[in-house]
Amino acid sequence: MDLGLHGKVAMVAASSKGLGFGIAQALAREGALVSLGARTEAEVFDAADALIEETGTDVLANVLDVTKPASILEWLDNTTDAFGGVDALVVNAGGPPTGNFDDFDDADWQSAFDLTLMSAVRMIRAVLPSMRAVGGGSILTITSVSVKEPIDVLLLSNVMRSGVASLAKSLSRQLASENIRVNNLLPGRIDTDRVQSLDALRADAQDLSIEDVRAANELIIPLGRYGTIEEFGKLGAFLLSDAASYITGQTIAADGGSIKTVW
Ligand code: NAP
Repeated sequence: MDLGLHGKVAMVAASSKGLGFGIAQALAREGALVSLGARTEAEVFDAADALIEETGTDVLANVLDVTKPASILEWLDNTTDAFGGVDALVVNAGGPPTGNFDDFDDADWQSAFDLTLMSAVRMIRAVLPSMRAVGGGSILTITSVSVKEPIDVLLLSNVMRSGVASLAKSLSRQLASENIRVNNLLPGRIDTDRVQSLDALRADAQDLSIEDVRAANELIIPLGRYGTIEEFGKLGAFLLSDAASYITGQTIAADGGSIKTVW
């Protein structure tokens, strides 16, 4: 199947590693021109070099902090200067800290709001004029299975990601007439540094080994294992591509079958 991504310009936020890198890699393998962004300069440049070496496509590395409005605008300018108009955007960021209601004050809530929800608003607002100028586009927000089943000790994440899911659905209806699709992708347990550090936290708290925590998590995943960033990346690239041209406003999970809800 031709995904129609060759030569398309894709901006992927939070993509020096993990889920963002997985999608960037899948896009680059399809010949898209990919603009990466993350805060740690050395890591995002290394990630770009790895993708260029593997795929031979053009990959741009950017220092990006999605919590800073000026940084998002600079990322957009760098991308359009290098590649022209933007066809695809992946909205992604690091996760808010773990904790329960009594652990957080107003400053914690505000930080999570800026990191997760306002970054989505600002990235989408920034790219829309470019997508409109090229006659359409595709936006993919990365949230979590927690928008369907809130996860204990991830309160800030649960609440803010629900806002992003609602933003994606609302915008999909508003932007469809302009040929801009918006979908929301929910990772379950994809094997990344973030998931490994959450496992380590639980292991510490419950005096278990990390291997025991992982085995316990795998027991409740119907497919019996964590997902890989390659599996996640392929689904993300598909949803961004013309092959998914009739799919918008959808919330789709890559979770090995974990979510128990029918819808
Ligand atoms: P990861 O492996 O830790 O990678 C996070 C990436 O985001 C890195 O490239 C990091 O680079 C970048 N980043 C972090 N903060 C940033 C910021 N303010 N601006 C720009 N880039 C930033 O994490 P992941 O597992 O891929 O997770 C990505 C998101 O999905 C997180 O919000 C996570 O909570 C969520 N999620 C993941 C899973 C899963 O199964 N992996 C499940 C549910 C939800 P720098 O630190 O250099 O900026």
